Amino acid sequence: MSAPYNAAVLEPEATTPLIMALPKGRILKECGPLLARAGIVPAPDYADEDTRHMRFPTNDPNLDVIRVRPFDVATFVAFGAAQLGICGSDVLMEFDYPEVYAPLDLGIAKCRVCVAEPAATAGSDDPSRWSRVRVASKYPNIARRHYASRGVHADVVELNGAMELAPGLGLSRLIVDLVDTGSTLRANGLVVTETIANVSSRLIVNRTALKTQPEAIGALIARFRAALG
Ligand code: AMP
Repeated sequence: MSAPYNAAVLEPEATTPLIMALPKGRILKECGPLLARAGIVPAPDYADEDTRHMRFPTNDPNLDVIRVRPFDVATFVAFGAAQLGICGSDVLMEFDYPEVYAPLDLGIAKCRVCVAEPAATAGSDDPSRWSRVRVASKYPNIARRHYASRGVHADVVELNGAMELAPGLGLSRLIVDLVDTGSTLRANGLVVTETIANVSSRLIVNRTALKTQPEAIGALIARFRAALG
């Protein structure tokens, strides 16, 4: 015998908590005060970097947070696995997902996407005269677009960290990476030769989720907007 129609079973989005994806690492710490001002209090082990948990309830029964790598925040939101997230504008520039809407600049985790080269050779050559250049970066699209705009082909060696080692070991001529204080570059004999973009973290939303759950998601956007003062 078939089960009787039950709206609660057939429409799980009405009872399932919204998911907000938050980035591990540096940005997570800067998110804390902002979440608190927005009235969002995740379970205590959310801030414990050693916990094996990845999904945490919050004081709002309609909102859970997940903790993922910064690049993966945009992917979870773009595919609708998370309805909202907090994500650096560097990641949005790199992926350019059409499904991701970024309604608010949160003004946190500010830094720059820069080109850096060994201090010893920086400025010794005019980049507009190059036909190609080897670049080490975790931002292949940003790096390729940047050089393509001046007619230079960028051969990008993709790395996920320790980019600063690449020029000294002959892996690339230069790097494209995030720079905050510049101390990591200095410690590795590199200097900034160009700033490609200023970066800050954004509140991001899945466009389809915003259309299907406008009240719940709109209310969360409003809470973040108010938290920014
Ligand atoms: P700094 O030495 O302060 O210039 O920081 C540079 C290092 O920190 C590089 O390895 C960057 O990839 C990383 N970094 C800087 N700012 C950020 C940020 N807002 N989010 C994530 N990583 C960052």
